[in-house]
Amino acid sequence: FVGKRGTPNREEKFRLLQMKVGDLHGVPVIVRETTTIQEAVVALFLENVSNLIVTDEDGDLAGVASRKDLLKVTLGNPNAATIPVSLVMTRQANVVTVSPEDTVLEAARKIIARQIDSLPVVVPSDSDKPGEHWKVVGRITKTNIIKMLLDMVAED
Ligand code: ADP
Repeated sequence: FVGKRGTPNREEKFRLLQMKVGDLHGVPVIVRETTTIQEAVVALFLENVSNLIVTDEDGDLAGVASRKDLLKVTLGNPNAATIPVSLVMTRQANVVTVSPEDTVLEAARKIIARQIDSLPVVVPSDSDKPGEHWKVVGRITKTNIIKMLLDMVAED
């Protein structure tokens, strides 16, 4: 919708602002904290993703492990294959997330500000453990957002 005419008109901007993460996000690729680096690398290849979402024994968000997190630990480390993914992931307290109710624009801003590829989509967990806990319901990526823009162009 930006293309030929330059800037989006008011109605087009409004449509974009209204889009919610819940309307767009994809299925997350999830592994457990105890998954080994070797299994995690296999999952990355099989599922064709750049990031794995890691959950704890209750299924709550524990962290995110990216291609580079896995690559870093394998370089020059012959025992890397058996190390659990929980040792190399970005931990939950530092993971940037969105809720299904957030706008796609908000997700895009977070992705750009943090220079990452994707965000876990989460809702509060009913867990009674202390602290904040989140259930993972999806994953929103740069690619999802670009596809949304292309679909909007195609609709015109
Ligand atoms: P890559 O490793 O392929 O560059 P990313 O750009 O997604 O993939 O990840 C870069 C770093 O940011 C990694 O250390 C990863 O663990 C971390 N990361 C990825 N997603 C998130 C997120 N949603 N919140 C916080 N950190 C993240």
